[in-house]
Amino acid sequence: MACVDAFNRSISYIRISVTDRCNLRCVYCMPEEGVKLRKHEEILTFEEIETVVKAAASLGITKVRLTGGEPLVRKGIVELVRKIASVPGVEDLAMTTNGTLLAQYAQALKEAGLKRVNVSLDSLRPERFRRITRLGNLEDVLRGIEAARKVGLTPVKVNMVVIDGLNRDEVVDFARLTLEDEWHVRFIELMPIGPNVEVNHRGYVPMSEVRQEIEEALGSLIPARITGNGPARYYRLKGAPGTIGFITPISEHFCYRCNRLRLTADGRLRPCLLSDYEIDLKGALRSGAGVKEIARLMKEAVLLKPQRHHIAEEIFPVSRVMSEIGG
Ligand code: SAM
Ligand code: SF4
Repeated sequence: MACVDAFNRSISYIRISVTDRCNLRCVYCMPEEGVKLRKHEEILTFEEIETVVKAAASLGITKVRLTGGEPLVRKGIVELVRKIASVPGVEDLAMTTNGTLLAQYAQALKEAGLKRVNVSLDSLRPERFRRITRLGNLEDVLRGIEAARKVGLTPVKVNMVVIDGLNRDEVVDFARLTLEDEWHVRFIELMPIGPNVEVNHRGYVPMSEVRQEIEEALGSLIPARITGNGPARYYRLKGAPGTIGFITPISEHFCYRCNRLRLTADGRLRPCLLSDYEIDLKGALRSGAGVKEIARLMKEAVLLKPQRHHIAEEIFPVSRVMSEIGG
């Protein structure tokens, strides 16, 4: 049974932020001192998350992605993966991670039922990587990607947020990786949300320019397909084993084909990343709501999903940071 919203979009995907904590402080995502963390009891328990997933599955949502904060810093994350993977109706279970702890967890995650990972990586230069993440080691992430490939958490997609004056000059280096090996690189437009909205606004680079830079350096891009039903448009360089994707939340919003809901770490369901409208599932869960009642509330949220966002026309601060909502 598919769950359809007021604009005839079929909702089949839920992104779950399993923690607001992170072991990095990426300059465009978090302030240096970190964000004010929620108390442990404010965060959904594994059982509560499982109930939400069961409710989602009963509505025809088949794809679940765990994100954060950094999902791998949540204690017991492998157990949570196991619980969610065994919910009937969940066909695709994926994770978005900064990759720093992936080498350590890849095998256990695979065995627990995770299908694939997306790894965020904004620079291939160790010093710059440290500057962007403030705390990270590039080597850890590269080892994480390798481990994920080895155990079959594939296709591993590498997400690079392109930022003017910070990493834009590495676009071609990232694209070149797809010629050498089965790298799936996705370039993402920086959104004006984060610790400093104005700075993020200035760093924005439209994907049309990124694409042009790649084609001038490495040749034409040919349309391609890859597993997953996210917002990216995929291409391949001639003869390349890997693919190149572009994600354009600003220059070409993909709201008309948006198929997702988001659950924040503190248990609020957001029908749209860029709208502050939320439904409090945690309150309902803690007042005794079971799968059926949560499914009813989710259906309500689906019907309130806005037609589109307007972030390109105005800079508006979303009241939460990405690490809370789950990017
Ligand atoms: N910690 C994990 C990670 O970094 O992959 C998962 C959470 S993070 C919030 C998810 C994604 O959101 C990352 O790929 C990150 O680069 C992206 N992100 C954060 N702030 C963003 C912004 N202002 N614009 C575009 N992408 C952003
Ligand atoms: Fe942490 Fe991911 Fe945000 Fe970087 S982008 S600070 S890794 S949540």
